[in-house]
Amino acid sequence: MDTLSSLQNRLQELEFISRKLEQPDEAFRTHGSEPTAEAAFSYAREFLSTLPDQKAFVEDVTTPKLLQQYPVQDEPRPADEVFSVLRKVFDNVSLNAASGGHLAYIPGGGLYYASLGDYLAAVTNKYSTVFYISPAAVKMENLLIRWMCELVGYPADKSGGYLTSGGSLANLSAIVAARDAKQVKAERVPRSVVYFTHQVHHCVLKDLRVAGLAECVIREVPMTDAYEMRAEALQEMIEEDLRNQLYPWLVVASAGSTDVSAIDPLNDIADIAEKYGLWFHVDAAYGGFFLLTETGRKKMKGIHRADSVVMDPHKGLFMPYGTGAVIVKDVQTLWRSNHFDANYMQDAIPYHDEISPADISPELSRHFRGLRVWLPLQLHGLKPFRAALEEKMLLTQYFYHEVKKLGFETGPFPELSVMIYRYVPEHLKGNTAAINELNARILKKVNADGKVFISSTSLNGEYWLRLAVLSFRTHRNHIDYLLQLLKKITEEEKLSETKLHKA
Ligand SMILES: *Cc1c(COP(=O)(O)O)cnc(C)c1O
Repeated sequence: MDTLSSLQNRLQELEFISRKLEQPDEAFRTHGSEPTAEAAFSYAREFLSTLPDQKAFVEDVTTPKLLQQYPVQDEPRPADEVFSVLRKVFDNVSLNAASGGHLAYIPGGGLYYASLGDYLAAVTNKYSTVFYISPAAVKMENLLIRWMCELVGYPADKSGGYLTSGGSLANLSAIVAARDAKQVKAERVPRSVVYFTHQVHHCVLKDLRVAGLAECVIREVPMTDAYEMRAEALQEMIEEDLRNQLYPWLVVASAGSTDVSAIDPLNDIADIAEKYGLWFHVDAAYGGFFLLTETGRKKMKGIHRADSVVMDPHKGLFMPYGTGAVIVKDVQTLWRSNHFDANYMQDAIPYHDEISPADISPELSRHFRGLRVWLPLQLHGLKPFRAALEEKMLLTQYFYHEVKKLGFETGPFPELSVMIYRYVPEHLKGNTAAINELNARILKKVNADGKVFISSTSLNGEYWLRLAVLSFRTHRNHIDYLLQLLKKITEEEKLSETKLHKA
């Protein structure tokens, strides 16, 4: 009796404390100090309304130290204090990936309605893992995947896939499915050959290693001047490898390379992959959603012939980071590599016509990514997405022409919305080291200004500046700002060169 009553007392104490986690009153109450939910929303409102005036990049050396002053502790901290810390570490420091001035790497932006989707997904905590527990959440994701399969041109009956956290993991999943479908077992790995060009995203190499395929033979297929795979060279390499008793099993094409937005000749590669029985994977993490435009569809002809395709909604659909997708022509391949039966899942009714993410991905419990994609697509419709994507391509072409007028050299005409350029003044022609140094200096000056943020790449030992237009918030004014800045910087460079000469 004594133990029972002390147990009950303890339960009462614990309930009193643990109920603090339920907090609806504090989060939503409308009297007294600002409710916590309201503080979060007013911060979001303020952040978004001041976005056009915020810098795209400010070097950040202090905020990591500031965060160290807020370790996890037993006692709560006041909401005011917590939100003021957030403002300090988020506002006007480091890369502002939400800014339209973000013209580096591959931007995306982060649609506001997607954040509401995330918010509601977290509040309701829907379990988007297995169909029988959460049919609507799983169906929502599967319908988004179905839509992407249609976009690529996959047949409706067998294709499928799932939403991942990004392109790197999506590529990993495709590689694992390819590995198993092509029976690349351990003892076979050192004789198994993978083909791609130097333009392939580095995550493919990382993924091969993670998938236990680091010992595969890697062939870099030669490229055209436009950095696209030379299909006939691929065929020659495969034949040579076959003559040498090697096992060609995978070719990875880029549909929109990260460096220059090059698109490999997908139809020609598909012919070769078919002829020699290779798995044909297309990494369209960056380029995939340009399929929403007429031009994109023309340029990516043949993509439907790939065995697997990766596309990142957090790039071309402007979703917040953490949204990728892998789709395959035959969903059984993903299933074979990932399905598992566990005893604590014994109540799961085998549902033959609705695949669950848990059956075809390495994840079990997972973020309900579908809602953050579904909500903005429903609330905006596709029209503004198509317009934004076409706008980004045309902005890049506009920059291509205008930057030439400023005396810059450019790489190939941009296939999509990424291109390279560099400044090569007459007196430095042939002097690679000096040209590289000059362009690195130009990049530094642009980013020190910070209204726009640019990046660079290195091709055959040459330093190139890179323009990547993909934020939905990037418009003509950002491109014009960059052009003006480049004009100013190169004029300064010329001036100091003349002074140097006179001295
Ligand atoms: C961005 C990118 C990746 C990597 O995707 P993450 O979402 O950053 O993991 C892979 N391939 C290409 C072509 C990319 O542009």
